[in-house]
Amino acid sequence: MHSHTQAIHIGQTPEATFGAVVPPIYMTSTYAQDHPGIDKGYDYTRAGNPNFTNLESTLAALEHGQHATVFSSGLGAGTALFSTLKPGARVLASDDLYGGTYRMFTRSFGQFGIQLLQVDWHDRKAVEQHLQRGIDLIIIETPTNPLLRLSDIQSITQLARQHGVTTVVDNTFASPINQHPLTLGADVVWHSLTKYIGGHSDIIGGALITNDQILNDQFFFARLSLGLNPSPFDVWLTQRSLKTLPLRIAQHNANALHIAQTLQSHPLVRAVHYPGLPSHPHHQLAQRQMTGGFGGMVSIEFDLTLDQMKSLISSFTYFRLAESLGGVESLVNHPASMTHASIPADIRAQQGLTDGLVRFSVGIEHPDDLTADILTALAAYE
Ligand SMILES: *Cc1c(COP(=O)(O)O)cnc(C)c1O
Repeated sequence: MHSHTQAIHIGQTPEATFGAVVPPIYMTSTYAQDHPGIDKGYDYTRAGNPNFTNLESTLAALEHGQHATVFSSGLGAGTALFSTLKPGARVLASDDLYGGTYRMFTRSFGQFGIQLLQVDWHDRKAVEQHLQRGIDLIIIETPTNPLLRLSDIQSITQLARQHGVTTVVDNTFASPINQHPLTLGADVVWHSLTKYIGGHSDIIGGALITNDQILNDQFFFARLSLGLNPSPFDVWLTQRSLKTLPLRIAQHNANALHIAQTLQSHPLVRAVHYPGLPSHPHHQLAQRQMTGGFGGMVSIEFDLTLDQMKSLISSFTYFRLAESLGGVESLVNHPASMTHASIPADIRAQQGLTDGLVRFSVGIEHPDDLTADILTALAAYE
């Protein structure tokens, strides 16, 4: 079955009593039992709910996996994942890991003796040295935020398997339409459903998808035990959103490529970071790994001062200045004054996060309106 069909038909069997084509929202905390301990598959919504089950089967199918567990947020899914680790565990992750994941390790799980180590996955020697010293879990994020660098999922998971290490891929930026980490050897796919899957900037959610029954049982137990369940209403909305995911991603991919191609020759542009451009350092890997497309995120470095940048990013009509990404509406984010403002300017520049760098979450509006919006705003500085 193709993903367009899976997104609409998996987990959407008509409801039994009245035949409602769209399964209703089961807004219930508890379930009547026929006899003590004899229930119809659900006993309490922290443990499970028919809406969760429906969404889980669709997400598993889209990721080419067997099992999925949904959570209250992307970081709620991360909490379940890291709760499977023992004190003293060593986790190896990308050096430009999502800030919330980094904070969860350093400020929360660090207190329980779980250690975060970071590496550039392209530095094979450093990766092997870490693996020889002992690693319990690997977390790969590709493409990364905000520079959209790629890591080779297949080669990392192959190496990890030789050392018996479980691998997790945070697939939030690519979505299950553009990239399938389980088919490239990953053990677990991690999603923030808040981004492309939710897609309308109106819900927070998370999921873990795997082919490993034992891991899935642990994730399910963590949701129950740690109270990481989502609301049935949010899950129902996410299911509704998922039906248009393949269509939305196709438009995000096309719009982002159009903007990247249009802006790359602009006199005020120093660099365009987009995996779909032949100039991107990992373009060949992107062609192999991102089989559905190169995504809706584009980062552009402008030849403007910090003050000019602050006024530029507030002068767009359609690109709203906001955190987050993956919605139908276009958003813009300025790392130097927003997400990464607390990092000293020289260290930020070393990491490639210069004052002129802007991250665009390209929505599904008409591409001509979006490029005109950026070009018009830039005209003030030419
Ligand atoms: C947003 C995000 C998360 C966290 O998800 P929430 O739903 O905000 O908790 C994790 N990883 C990546 C790559 C993200 O963009």
